[in-house]
Amino acid sequence: MTTQRIRDFLDDRRPDGPCLVVDLDVVRDNYAAYRHALPDTRIYYAVKANPMPEVLELLASMGSSFDCASVNEIKMALAAGATADRISYGNTIKKERDIAAAFALGVRLFAVDAFEEVEKVARAAPGARVFCRILCDGAGAEWPLSRKFGCEPSLATSVLDHARLFGLVPWGVSFHVGSQQANTGAWDGALASAAQIFADMAERGVELGMVNLGGGFPTRYLKDVPSAEAYGAAIHEALMRHFGNHIPETIIEPGRGMVGSAGTIKAEVVLVSRKAENEATRWVYLDIGKFGGLAETMDESIRYPIKTARDGGAMEPCIIAGPTCDSADVLYEKTPYPLPLSLTVGDEVLIEGTGAYTTTYSAVAFNGFPPLATYCI
Ligand SMILES: *Cc1c(COP(=O)(O)O)cnc(C)c1O
Repeated sequence: MTTQRIRDFLDDRRPDGPCLVVDLDVVRDNYAAYRHALPDTRIYYAVKANPMPEVLELLASMGSSFDCASVNEIKMALAAGATADRISYGNTIKKERDIAAAFALGVRLFAVDAFEEVEKVARAAPGARVFCRILCDGAGAEWPLSRKFGCEPSLATSVLDHARLFGLVPWGVSFHVGSQQANTGAWDGALASAAQIFADMAERGVELGMVNLGGGFPTRYLKDVPSAEAYGAAIHEALMRHFGNHIPETIIEPGRGMVGSAGTIKAEVVLVSRKAENEATRWVYLDIGKFGGLAETMDESIRYPIKTARDGGAMEPCIIAGPTCDSADVLYEKTPYPLPLSLTVGDEVLIEGTGAYTTTYSAVAFNGFPPLATYCI
């Protein structure tokens, strides 16, 4: 999964220390795959997954829109060449002055999931379009998004009606089926709820226009995942099932699926040890850990493919840990990770599928380790 271009770059440049290399050709292919899989759906790239300027510029040039969660992300999307009408302020938790700043930058599309948030948007972004996020249980996702965002579908109608009363344009419904969602059918239940909200609003004389299908599209780690095409087909069928001949405007917000497969982290073995003479499981310490960008190993949720030049020989399950002096800095222990028996200090390892949710999670200088170095090629 590490592309030849990434291998060549690492061979030529031999960067010291851990680093992420992102192959923009893969991002380009991923964008094209979503375009093709859902031709009538607008793509709002979720900036938080990887906000490197080269990534944003490439996607902006290909016509992507952007899902932003803060004023800084909005500024990054604008700097990359997106116009404000291609930006959604998709965070349901915003300060009123940040809403005002986004409005001043031209943003007119905002997420809400509560009455108070509606009132903030109405004051700071008068007349804007809002969509209401509904809860989604995240079943089937490897990185579910809990109950932090969204309201019960039964409340959404009142929230959207509140928006209308306050002079906003109730524009649609959004949800997120959970990140790294392996089930292509996961959108069905939420789309049924969305269709019900559309019907309830129509009864109140309000015609909603848009369903935001969120992210959740996976990256291939150790297990195969369905193709973009398979997600597109399942989503299209669910839209027809619940909306019939009145399919609304739709948008998707892929983050992980857009950039995860485009990146590989190069790291180095710092120590291999056993805690007792005849202990079966070795400890392998790398120069990158939870605080260097691999935060999604939390609870061992995301299990990255790890490649070494010694693969093919005898393997043995290892506990893998990072280099910092925090005992939480262990990547895989509950389920030890098979690595070559001959693996030794100084060996290079490639951690694959790390283009999403790594650089931005990397600490600034915990224990003096610099933030994760990144290269776009
Ligand atoms: C994080 C996020 C996304 C991206 O999710 P992925 O699972 O990485 O595709 C999309 N929409 C919203 C609102 C998000 O917060």
